Amino acid sequence: MQIQFIANESVSAARHLIESAQRIVTISHMSPDGDAVGSSLAARHLLRALGKQVTTVLPNHFPAFFGWMNGASDILIYENDNKAVQTAIVEADLVILLDLNSLKRINGVKPLVEQSKAPKLLIDHHLDPEQFTDVIVSYPDISSTSELLYALIVQMGWGDRIDKACAEAIYVGMMTDTGNFSYTSQQPEIYTIISELLKIGIDKDDIYRRVYTNYSEKRMRLMGYCLLNKMKIYPKQHTAVISLTKEELERFDFHVGDTEGFVNIPLSIDGINRSVFVREEEKKVKLSFRSQGAVPVNTIAAQHFGGGGHLNAAGGESYLSIAQTLTKLEFIILNLQD
Ligand code: 5GP
Ligand code: MN
Repeated sequence: MQIQFIANESVSAARHLIESAQRIVTISHMSPDGDAVGSSLAARHLLRALGKQVTTVLPNHFPAFFGWMNGASDILIYENDNKAVQTAIVEADLVILLDLNSLKRINGVKPLVEQSKAPKLLIDHHLDPEQFTDVIVSYPDISSTSELLYALIVQMGWGDRIDKACAEAIYVGMMTDTGNFSYTSQQPEIYTIISELLKIGIDKDDIYRRVYTNYSEKRMRLMGYCLLNKMKIYPKQHTAVISLTKEELERFDFHVGDTEGFVNIPLSIDGINRSVFVREEEKKVKLSFRSQGAVPVNTIAAQHFGGGGHLNAAGGESYLSIAQTLTKLEFIILNLQD
C-alpha cells in the first residue's frame, strides 16, 4: 500500500526548505511525551543522514524511560541550557516545529523562535494550528506526528534514508500517542508503516518493554495511592478525577514522567468515559483530560483551562490553588450535559 496523503505542494515546500538549509533546529513541546521525543529524534536522524547539522531542542526534560533512545543524550534542554539553545536558534537557517499547534506550547523558547529570521516549518497533528510558520504540514486525522513525519519523509523521496534509529524513534511516537495502538489506531496505514519499520529492523516488543516496563517502585506505589485514595468518581457524569498535590508528589519522590498514563486508568472502569488528572506544579496546576468515543474533552480544556488538544486527549492549566481548581472542575463536571 502506498502511503500518500500529504498534499504535493506541502511536500515540495517542506523539501525545498530542508534542501536549502544547512543548520537546522527542531523544537517540540514542553512536558515532552513519546511523540514529541520520537518525532524530534526521527527528524534528527533523517536530517543528519542528509548531511545537515541538527540541534534538537526540548523546552524541558523528557521522562527517563525515553533515555535509551539513540540521540536522546544529544537533546538540548532549554531549561538546563538556555544559552546553547539561544545560540542554535540564532544561527539556524531552518527551524522545524514538531507536534504542537501553538507557540505557547514551547514556553520560554517562544520568544527565540519569534525573533528568529530563519524560515519555519510546522509538522503537526493537532487541530487548528496557529499560523506561525512559513510552511504547515498539519493533518489532525493522523494519530501521531511521528507517523505524519514518516509519511512526509517517504513522500519527500527520502524513505531509503530511514535507518534503524530513525525507525525506532518513529515507532515510539506512534506507539505512545495511541496507547500501544489501543485508541486512535484504526487506520490500516498505521500497520503498513509498522510493517515497513519492522523491515528496517526495529524490535517492537523490545521497544514496548523499554518504554512501559521501566518504572520505579515509587511510581507504582504512587499509582496505587491515587487509585485507592485520590480518585473521585462522578457516576452520573461518567467522569473520574484524580488529583495530586505537590506535597504528595514529593512524598513519592516524583520524577518527570512518573504520572504519565495515570489519566487513562479510570477509563477502564465500566461506565467511565471521561477522566481528568490534576497535578499541582511549582507555579500552576496542570490538568490532563482523556475521554472515549464521541465525548469531547478539548472543549472543556479550551473553555475553562486555557488549553486545548484533541477530542479524546487534551490539557490545560489553572493558576488558582489546587483546592480552588478542584472546586471549579467539580462545578464544571456537575453541569456537564452528556
Ligand atoms: P497531556 O495530557 O498528555 O499533557 O496532553 C494531551 C494533549 O492535550 C496533548 O497532546 C496536547 O494536544 C493537549 N494539551 C496538553 N496540555 C495543553 C495545554 O496546556 N494547552 C493546549 N493547547 N493543549 C494542551
Ligand atoms: Mn502527538
